[in-house]
Amino acid sequence: MSSSVSPARCALPNTPLADAAAGLDACVHCGFCLQACPTYVNLEDENDSPRGRLVLMRRMLDGDIALDDPDVGRHMDRCLGCRACETACPSGVPYGELLEATRATMAPVRATIANPLGVHGLLGNANEWVADCWNDNYDSAPGTQEARLTGADCGLRVMRGQGWTAIAAGTRAAFRLKMTATDRRFTFGFRVVREFDAD
Ligand code: SF4
Ligand code: SF4
Repeated sequence: MSSSVSPARCALPNTPLADAAAGLDACVHCGFCLQACPTYVNLEDENDSPRGRLVLMRRMLDGDIALDDPDVGRHMDRCLGCRACETACPSGVPYGELLEATRATMAPVRATIANPLGVHGLLGNANEWVADCWNDNYDSAPGTQEARLTGADCGLRVMRGQGWTAIAAGTRAAFRLKMTATDRRFTFGFRVVREFDAD
């Protein structure tokens, strides 16, 4: 009698997410990361938690969800990339690496999908000034979506994302740099915010 092990199903071969799949398998769904995650704490939606996003990644890899699924895209977009979940995880799940791999895998199919304002492809265009004063970390940051207008030095301001001359690793909304408020460069733009219903 012979036995064989079925090869793992992979609907996205030769993608960054497939290459990072071993990290997905390290998650034991214990939930220790949930309360460390600001998007889960604020939105109270499992799909906006580290554990929930890892499940979504797995389902895309297995072919159960399409790469261009707008709901999945929204939950991945909401992730701040802060990696607080990595510190809280006892199983060593490399969440940040998985998030980057997922976004890189989804990027080609999402590049032409417009957001609710009808625009797309903004990341990687210009660095974006935001209103926040520079602080070294998020300790004591307001739990709201308002700008943080106090800090160790408001002569330094926060720049988010990366411009077209920079490396890909910074091409995400949560990436930040400290810059002198009077600095001006040809790759600098600013972030425009308009609030609308998530649904
Ligand atoms: S990422 Fe880590 S802490 Fe979160 S559910 Fe998975 S194993 Fe648990
Ligand atoms: S990186 Fe931050 S926002 Fe994203 S799942 Fe982890 S803790 Fe939550």
